[in-house]
Amino acid sequence: MAVRLVSERERDPVGASFRLGAIRGIPVFLHWSLAIIFLLLTWSIASGFSPEVFPEISPGAQWLIGATTAALYIASILAHEFGHAIVAQRLGVQVRRITLLVFGGVAELASESETARAELRIAAAGPAVSFALALAFLVGSLLATAADQPLLQAPLTYLAIANLLLGVFNLIPGYPLDGGRILRAIVWQRSGSKERADERAAQSGQVIGFIFFSIAVFLVLQGQLLSGLWLLAIGWFIQNNSGLIGAQSGMNALLRGVTTSQAMDDHVQMVPGRQMLRQIVDERVLGMGERFFVVTDEGTPRGILSLTDIVRTPRERWDWVAASQAMVPWSRVVAVHPAMPLTEALQLMTEREVSQVPVVHEGRPVGVLSREMIINNLRLRAELKSGVDRATQQRQRAPTSR
Ligand SMILES: [Zn+2]
Repeated sequence: MAVRLVSERERDPVGASFRLGAIRGIPVFLHWSLAIIFLLLTWSIASGFSPEVFPEISPGAQWLIGATTAALYIASILAHEFGHAIVAQRLGVQVRRITLLVFGGVAELASESETARAELRIAAAGPAVSFALALAFLVGSLLATAADQPLLQAPLTYLAIANLLLGVFNLIPGYPLDGGRILRAIVWQRSGSKERADERAAQSGQVIGFIFFSIAVFLVLQGQLLSGLWLLAIGWFIQNNSGLIGAQSGMNALLRGVTTSQAMDDHVQMVPGRQMLRQIVDERVLGMGERFFVVTDEGTPRGILSLTDIVRTPRERWDWVAASQAMVPWSRVVAVHPAMPLTEALQLMTEREVSQVPVVHEGRPVGVLSREMIINNLRLRAELKSGVDRATQQRQRAPTSR
């Protein structure tokens, strides 16, 4: 259904999902709520075979056909998500995982598309797969009709319609639905501004989410509780996720032109490689509250030692394990340049799943950057901006109030 950008080191994106396996290196997760959908679909399909029309079919066969059709529908949702994922992979965007949920699937991407065109292709791939499947099931259903096989024809027709609806539903232009992503890509392409596109995407999600809420309230008032709650959940999902992209675009606007050197801490804490962890913990971590060190060998950086690296070594070995043995070697360290835009540094840290990085200039560590520093910097800028906005408003209001 949706393609989602993973913005934080996430444990379990929605909670309570289990890993089914991996296809083409992409892990597939199933959320428990999918079981409800499976049962509901099975029941609705099985009960569709009325004894008057299908006198020859036993209740057992009804349920078997129902369950098979429901499973094929869920496989269709998975195929839709793989449409997004495979195109993303081809365009060089890493796919973290695919999760199937109560109202569809989510393909989580590790980074943003580089271009509007790439974004458009990734977003359109899912609905394209759904429409192709709808067509394939339609052909199957026509063949079954020609061969006079009503027991095959009924589920195939059902799957053709279900895939058609899945494709159409996802084209609703409300971010993060595929339609909203397509809209974002088009605005991005036309205006050349990603921020403008993000703004539009966020707005589209708010509007569509609101429409879903309104219909949900109407349905609940009509006594259709289940459908109402269903739409409510979808509306909530859309509003929530489009709110995230709105926040993201606000953040990018605040950090425009800000470089890493403006947010970093230029006190680099160094430890000699031969120093034992016990001494580092006692004197530096507990003694001075430091938690991130550049390990040096006669002034040359050899690696990075963070609190995580220290804790990974069993406590009773701290007396004889040296910093150089517990560190992440310099060749594997993710480092940033002081002139790197802060948003890019943050994206790099997110992609590589690290919370602090050394800032390196001409091979020499000149500072340390952490997520916390970026957030603090962002908060300061947001406060300053809201202060300036208020002052401007007051200045503008003052003459007219007289
Ligand atoms: Zn989709």
